[in-house]
Amino acid sequence: MNEKRRESVRRAISRIEERLESCDLCPRKCEVNRYETTGFCGQKIDPKVSAIVLHFGEEPPLVRNGGAGAVFFSGCSMSCVYCQNFAFSQNNNGKETSPESLGDSFLKISEEGGVCLDLVTPTPNLYGFLRAYDYALERGFDLPLVFNTSGYEDIETLETLDGIVDIYLTDIRYTDDLTGLKYSLVSDYWTVTRRAVKEMFRQVGAFREDEMRGVIVRHLVLPEGKAGTEEMAEFVSFELSASVPISLMSQYRPVHKARDFPELSRRITNAEYNRALEIVDGYGLTGWMQHFESEEVFRAKPIGGK
Ligand code: SF4
Repeated sequence: MNEKRRESVRRAISRIEERLESCDLCPRKCEVNRYETTGFCGQKIDPKVSAIVLHFGEEPPLVRNGGAGAVFFSGCSMSCVYCQNFAFSQNNNGKETSPESLGDSFLKISEEGGVCLDLVTPTPNLYGFLRAYDYALERGFDLPLVFNTSGYEDIETLETLDGIVDIYLTDIRYTDDLTGLKYSLVSDYWTVTRRAVKEMFRQVGAFREDEMRGVIVRHLVLPEGKAGTEEMAEFVSFELSASVPISLMSQYRPVHKARDFPELSRRITNAEYNRALEIVDGYGLTGWMQHFESEEVFRAKPIGGK
């Protein structure tokens, strides 16, 4: 199993290596030579990471008793006006590290009881990640691999990850391109994401906890119905499968630049969240729903006890 995966990882490293000369790893397709300069995401060749923690705020099967081993990469191909992680996703805070050192952190996650390796927005750092992962696999690392993404992914890149990723934890943020342009600075969010999520589903199917494999869809409910919950539920139910779990999130906060947009300048109401729940339920979907009253608590434990 490990050998087969290592072969896939090595194949992926050489494919990605070639594409970095005119980078098209994500749908931005900057076509810059990443060995010499940076594109929209601001990332170089070696992996850049903001934090590595055991994270207890992910979906229950990814956390259990040990926590998800979350790796927060710097850089992102989107630029959401309400991004809670803008310090490292947009302002590029973080620390460049070597693949070997990152691979050692993966091993530490495993030693400290992490349930999975949870890569948060890894695509701009995919090359560095894969080299780190290869290093860790060589040393016996075997936790399930979670690809935690905005959903805005290039199909060829996803195809390269076939046989490597166990769990796609993907957002569906909006269900029309204009909303994506307004709030996340991408002109084709839904056109790209609906194809990307289908490719994820083709590879691993709906999430099964006993196998720790499959697709989970995350949907952050936005004020004024801006997230397109009805269309999201229809898409998942009819174009994927009603067995794909939905993680319906209520914790929207008007942070970063959200207050520049009057419609996004407040939290969602109880009624808005309940309406989203009704919609999801109406399409026969299940998953994880948050109690509206609950305050999200970011519980995390640093790796290595630092
Ligand atoms: S990964 Fe970065 S450089 Fe490459 S296409 Fe995407 S945004 Fe541009």
